[in-house]
Amino acid sequence: MTEQPDNTPGSDPRSTELAERLAKVRKRIAVAAESAGRGDHPPSLIVVTKFHPAEDIRRLAVLGITDVGENRDQEAAAKALELADLNLTWHFVGQLQTKKAKSVARYAAAVHSVDRPQLVDALAKSVRNEMEASGRSRLDCFIQVSLEDDGGTHRGGAAPGDVPILAEQITGTDSLNLAGVMAVAPLGAPPEPAFEKLAGVSARLAAAYPGATGISAGMSQDLEAAIRFGATHLRIGSDILGSRPAVG
Ligand SMILES: *Cc1c(COP(=O)(O)O)cnc(C)c1O
Repeated sequence: MTEQPDNTPGSDPRSTELAERLAKVRKRIAVAAESAGRGDHPPSLIVVTKFHPAEDIRRLAVLGITDVGENRDQEAAAKALELADLNLTWHFVGQLQTKKAKSVARYAAAVHSVDRPQLVDALAKSVRNEMEASGRSRLDCFIQVSLEDDGGTHRGGAAPGDVPILAEQITGTDSLNLAGVMAVAPLGAPPEPAFEKLAGVSARLAAAYPGATGISAGMSQDLEAAIRFGATHLRIGSDILGSRPAVG
């Protein structure tokens, strides 16, 4: 057995911690996918790195992470610039103001929080401009669906009944690609009924748009339930990175 020298990239204590946490999460995903009969097509892992420094993303890249998620444009844009050498795939997962579409179009490969017609318009235009200016490819769009029992939108998202109109609008552009649906499970309730409902919304969408089979669901607390109900993209933050630094 040869010992690694201490200056090997990724051998600092934080890298060791991240490696251990990531291994645990990967194990949970593998076990859940296996028991859902999906061992041969497990969901892909997006590590949500919001509030954590760019150096942590560098450490994660050494550990094989290729997909990262952020929920604030200012933070995401700065990290994407700083880490441009890593060839990462950036996913925007937070509520998005239309005025930020132009910035997001510069670095994001996917937006998971598309929830209203004005945002589709803004993204379509900004991504089209970027396609012409920098040769970027189409933006993958997940329609965020609200799964609140009371029909409210406390955690964001369109009402399930508004999904078809948004889907039609997205597929009518030449710069956006309809990837599927996304949801955040309601707080303070078991996630299973919500993810079951999302699976139904997804099935109806995919029947009309055969390419739109993505289901972005599952966070640290509920990834097993999400996998059981067909999640294709997990968005995991705190169980890999630790608790987020407090913000003022
Ligand atoms: C922060 C965040 C996540 C990750 O949540 P964890 O509980 O830290 O795993 C996933 N999705 C969205 C939309 C988020 O904002």
